[in-house]
Amino acid sequence: MATEANTLWCVVPAAGRGGRFGGEVPKQYLPLAGRPLILHTLERIAAHPRIAGLMVVLSAQDHWWPGVAEINGKPVSHTAIGGGERADSVLTGLRALPDSVADADFVLVHDAARPCLRYEDLGRLIVEGAGSGGALLATPLRDTLKRADGANRSIETEAREARWRALTPQMFRRGELTLALERARTDGVVVTDEAMAMELSGVRPLLVEGAEDNIKITTPADLKLAEFLLERTL
Ligand code: C5P
Repeated sequence: MATEANTLWCVVPAAGRGGRFGGEVPKQYLPLAGRPLILHTLERIAAHPRIAGLMVVLSAQDHWWPGVAEINGKPVSHTAIGGGERADSVLTGLRALPDSVADADFVLVHDAARPCLRYEDLGRLIVEGAGSGGALLATPLRDTLKRADGANRSIETEAREARWRALTPQMFRRGELTLALERARTDGVVVTDEAMAMELSGVRPLLVEGAEDNIKITTPADLKLAEFLLERTL
């Protein structure tokens, strides 16, 4: 089976402007433990023996891409036409993958802004994703969930049973994911992750429980936490 060899490519959307973070430099290029954040993310993915290559999706205005062409012996390609929404960027990356990646082959999608991915979680996702037709790392919700009004007053408490937080990487077949994302776009639905596009196509992606510390860098405080985590997780 194709997924048994090191033929897995990973699309890394990195075309976000990081509006919630503020500042001129997009968050994926901020220094983290002395190097641009995105390099840590790419290294964590490239470290797995099943990974064949990485396709990074940049925005057309990107001046910061460090120009790496290889990590851990794996090719790092990039395409500089990220879209208006994350899903558009992912679609661009899927289309830019080499022809050697067949429609039936699995691909991973991982946010550039998640540098603390654990090797063990990535390995489990790859195994369970291939066995289930598609999967994503996620964590079950542990806190009590509130619905707020416009003034941050809690209106009601929502059930937390069966609620998960979706993380990345997410793993689907190249052809199925491309179709699902194209369909969502045609229908005018903004999907916030790959699994949502697959759900809308009638698929039930497997939720693979991963570590909570696979955080998405969103605020300056997250950056400090990531620095702490990077030293302690692998
Ligand atoms: O903005 P958010 O934190 O949800 O972005 C998650 C990931 O998607 C980031 O790595 C970001 O660079 C990427 N992204 C993108 N294209 C967009 C928006 C976000 O590649 N239009």
